[in-house]
Amino acid sequence: MDYNHDVASELTKQNIVKLLAELPDGVEVVAAAKTRTPEEVLEVVQAGIKIIGENYVKEAKEAYEVVGKRAKWHFIGTFQKHSVRRKALEIFDMIESVDSLEIAREINRRCAQIGKIMPILIEVNSGREPQKSGALPEDVEQLVRQISGLRNIKVMGLMTMGPRFGNSEDSRPYFVETRRVFEQIKGLELPNVEMRYLSMGMTNSYKVALEEGANIIRIGTRIFGERNSA
Ligand SMILES: *Cc1c(COP(=O)(O)O)cnc(C)c1O
Repeated sequence: MDYNHDVASELTKQNIVKLLAELPDGVEVVAAAKTRTPEEVLEVVQAGIKIIGENYVKEAKEAYEVVGKRAKWHFIGTFQKHSVRRKALEIFDMIESVDSLEIAREINRRCAQIGKIMPILIEVNSGREPQKSGALPEDVEQLVRQISGLRNIKVMGLMTMGPRFGNSEDSRPYFVETRRVFEQIKGLELPNVEMRYLSMGMTNSYKVALEEGANIIRIGTRIFGERNSA
């Protein structure tokens, strides 16, 4: 290993130790691994990260080859039709980005084939941005009710990205709105639904997200450093 690599991994370790020390009990960190190599992913796991978030199935498979069961694996990417095939469903411990009944049915069908019950989060388009994935806040309850009937899926909460801002305070209303929907659905006590996780906040917004009730945060840059491309 060369000198630069050692310096980089020392920085990564320090980032992780500091971040984990900052967080209240009961908050889980998902390390958002897009564009990182399997070796980089292994490094963060060795430094104390327990959950890896993958946007791309191909990258997930490559990293899984190296890291395996030393971490849990969350899919956090945009769903393409047929993007989650059998091998991917075997890898993932949770899918955070379900936003339609069609996708849920596909996951359910394939999980039934491999005898798995997949925990999922519903992705909420809290910013109501037309080009973004996620269900609109007012549509989430009906979607959860429909998905709750699928036997190989278990709804366990909500995820949101929110619009990208430079100033983290600007994210607050979108996190508040997602929390409101979360509590509303939790209060319904639907069968086969367990509203336990609220996944909100990234490098520039996780502190605000924690104040607004997030118990999963998804962090890329703060853990791995700047991305060259994304
Ligand atoms: C990239 C990504 C993150 C983390 O972004 P950073 O700003 O690098 O922390 C979180 N969630 C999703 C869905 C992402 O794609």
